[in-house]
Amino acid sequence: MAINIINPATKSVYKSIEETDSAGLNTAVENAKSAFEIWRKTSAAERTQAMHRVADEIEACGAELAEIIVSEQGKPMAIAQMEVGGAAGWTRYNAELSLEPVVIEDSAERYVEEQRLPVGVVASITPWNWPLMIAVWHIMPALRAGCSVVIKPASTTPINTIKLAEIINKHTVPNLVQVVIGGGRAVGEPLVKHPDVKKLVFTGSTPVGKHLAQIAVADLKKVTLELGGNDAGIVLENADISKVAEKIYMTSFINMGQTCACLKRLYVHRSKYEALSDALTKIAAAQVVGNGMDEGVTFGPVQNEKQFNSVNAMIEEAKAAGAEVIQPSLPAGLNGYFIAPTLIKDPKHDMSVVCEEQFGPVLPIIPYDNLEEVMSHAIHKEFALGGSVWGEECPERDWVVEQLDSGTVWINNHAEVLPHIPFGGNKDSGMGVEFGQEGLLEYTVRKVVNRAK
Ligand code: NAP
Repeated sequence: MAINIINPATKSVYKSIEETDSAGLNTAVENAKSAFEIWRKTSAAERTQAMHRVADEIEACGAELAEIIVSEQGKPMAIAQMEVGGAAGWTRYNAELSLEPVVIEDSAERYVEEQRLPVGVVASITPWNWPLMIAVWHIMPALRAGCSVVIKPASTTPINTIKLAEIINKHTVPNLVQVVIGGGRAVGEPLVKHPDVKKLVFTGSTPVGKHLAQIAVADLKKVTLELGGNDAGIVLENADISKVAEKIYMTSFINMGQTCACLKRLYVHRSKYEALSDALTKIAAAQVVGNGMDEGVTFGPVQNEKQFNSVNAMIEEAKAAGAEVIQPSLPAGLNGYFIAPTLIKDPKHDMSVVCEEQFGPVLPIIPYDNLEEVMSHAIHKEFALGGSVWGEECPERDWVVEQLDSGTVWINNHAEVLPHIPFGGNKDSGMGVEFGQEGLLEYTVRKVVNRAK
């Protein structure tokens, strides 16, 4: 069966692609298993060199990859180019990581070392928001560790992943990365269940992540989950609005707000509430909304119809319940899934735009008078991916950092992820970690060699 890939800026068909059937899925896993037997025997230096060649070609194909991303994902060209640059950068970082054995004891009695072996064939399932970047986050540590990968990209954004796999297989060993195409239940679940798959790495929503983890753990497969979030940012009384407004806007609306670690709820001390709301309103109004392919566009559509409807429903609910909705009007003639960057002033704590993850271009701004009271709202019952505090150094700032229970706490920043800094969610936002040496170890199994002397 063919799946139509829709360009979200035009709602027209960008490409059609065949879904993988169960025979194709088995072949993909078999191919990956055979490639693993070759790749696992390569030396560290060979892997490093091959991965740098992959990074070189990602850069060389940068224009093509960025065009694919804009066409199927919808983001503006400059952000797609940033995504391609990040993909090459993460590849080079992982290429340079080392997995040398660690000596635990070298005494008169014994020599003990801990080795790290590749776990085997990895199943990767990715979402549609940063499709190339997240594929690279899954694949590159796996390759560095000596694993092969079968990846199922989101059904709405698979084309960039197919191109990435072509590049990798050309510079490593044939079939090392296999792409399977299709829906979660039809293709994703059978992939996770396949007996030759030894690890699941999943980025996506919390309910699907929990469901897949149960399937994987039933067969004692290793699991890494990067799941949903509803990150709070707390703006202190002493924050300098002229310094923080632009960054708060950027970290809330990057990729039209469709970023797991975006700032999604903004709590502002009442003394700064109007000034910050006005500053954010001006920045939002200055965005050029349109097709990401067009020169000068800074703000694209939401990626798909389901997300478009869900974000609009939250905005309508807030409006109906009396919140003030500040939304620049859209330019005439647009026919995609466009929602202008939207601010919601004075929402109630229990509105879905506040208590649920919007994953779209809308930011609720909530005033507070009492920091202790607002922290009880800011700390989410389920999610704990990221959080931030904005303001000059003071005991209150330290207190907020201490209180936040998320996997990352930023100070005067949000949503910054880098290849050498471990990233992962607590509570229902995830399990395990990505990036850095710790992220690499998630693709390995431990083997302790204990030699008596
Ligand atoms: P999603 O519905 O969970 O989908 C993510 C991936 O899982 C897609 O490839 C999807 O395939 C697949 N899938 C869906 N149901 C499945 C099933 N039953 N079995 C196997 N695979 C299945 O999430 P989404 O709405 O696309 O993505 C948004 C979510 O991802 C948000 O919650 C966001 O916070 C989270 N996210 C987290 C991070 C992080 O690092 N923590 C990063 C990015 C996004 P189809 O496309 O075919 O449905």
